[in-house]
Amino acid sequence: MWIDVKDLPDGGVISLVFTKTFDAPDREGKAEIKFIGSLTRKGDAYSLKLNCEGHFAANCDGCLIQTEVPLNYLTEEIFSKAASTEPEGYDADADVWTFSGQSINISESLSMNFLLNFPLYIRCNENCKGLCPTCGKNLNEGPCGCLPELDPRLKILRNFKE
Ligand SMILES: [Zn+2]
Ligand SMILES: [Zn+2]
Repeated sequence: MWIDVKDLPDGGVISLVFTKTFDAPDREGKAEIKFIGSLTRKGDAYSLKLNCEGHFAANCDGCLIQTEVPLNYLTEEIFSKAASTEPEGYDADADVWTFSGQSINISESLSMNFLLNFPLYIRCNENCKGLCPTCGKNLNEGPCGCLPELDPRLKILRNFKE
């Protein structure tokens, strides 16, 4: 996605509202993210600030039920003219992307931020108990009656008793 900055004066702001679809990393499915924010010019540097909101439908990694994962995050990126020196007044840790010409391609930064903010594990809720490894029952619906897996150290103790 390209943003034309040819006519943007120093201090000028371009408002941005758009949606973009991303492939989920390492799983099936796509997530549509709505972006609301702005691109602000400060000298030779352009600051992109976006509020990113969307969701992803997937199966819980614990209990496999269908769940909606909210994807809400903020991004702030700096784009700088390739020829110019490091822009002043920014956090030294901030990523600075370079561009040349009169428009900025923000696609790569959007994809990178999507990947960084996509959850590694998907859970229907924080306390998901998952499935019983023996009978496969969804333990969120209650206990299944299988004996819990014994810690190997406890097994030795039990053998002593017997
Ligand atoms: Zn679950
Ligand atoms: Zn069970």
